[in-house]
Amino acid sequence: RPRIGVLAVQGDVADHLRVLNALGVDARTVRRPEELAEVDGLVLPGGESTTIDRLLRIFDLAEPLRARLRAGMPAYGSCAGMIMLGSAVLDGRTDQGCLAALDISVRRNAFGRQVDSFEADLEIAALPRADEGPFRAVFIRAPWVERVGPGVEVLATVEHDGAERVVMVRQGPVLATSFHPEVTPDARVHELFVQMVREQAGSIGDRSGPSTSR
Ligand code: GLN
Repeated sequence: RPRIGVLAVQGDVADHLRVLNALGVDARTVRRPEELAEVDGLVLPGGESTTIDRLLRIFDLAEPLRARLRAGMPAYGSCAGMIMLGSAVLDGRTDQGCLAALDISVRRNAFGRQVDSFEADLEIAALPRADEGPFRAVFIRAPWVERVGPGVEVLATVEHDGAERVVMVRQGPVLATSFHPEVTPDARVHELFVQMVREQAGSIGDRSGPSTSR
């Protein structure tokens, strides 16, 4: 049974725990470095990225988290979590840091401040059971991905003001969405992440062996 942490310094923690538990995962909150060391994968929830960034440093989690990501720990970031996993924040606070686990630049609050939130049906071929239909995506003061590095797969886009905007990406064991799949009943994004965690756990044997890849 994979053990998946939800970063619990700020943001939409409870809904991710509920979805992961419903999928049969051993889901638990991560607030301390010791808790981070015990998980096979980590969800970074939506919330406020400037606050999460600050709290990561206050909780002494920023460096251990960077180290685990460098070692190939699977991670999934939603909304503010996507901003945290990226390599550059556009429209961030000037001192806002990020974890550089994905070679992407992310624009905060990109869809405009007037439109606080919206929903859209997305075709996401990479999802398990993709033939069951589109994924209803809920965007809440959402970012978009403005630059995608060569190793990054674009898994979903949404049309906005006549342009296709990137809202879901994957790079190896790291997944991110601009939207909030934890607030709708469709669990396929979380299922994809659980699959990624299982694959990684299978390929490195067990979580106690530090991986030197990446
Ligand atoms: N706008 C928020 C930020 O910049 C993200 C919003 C969210 O996570 N729902 O961090």
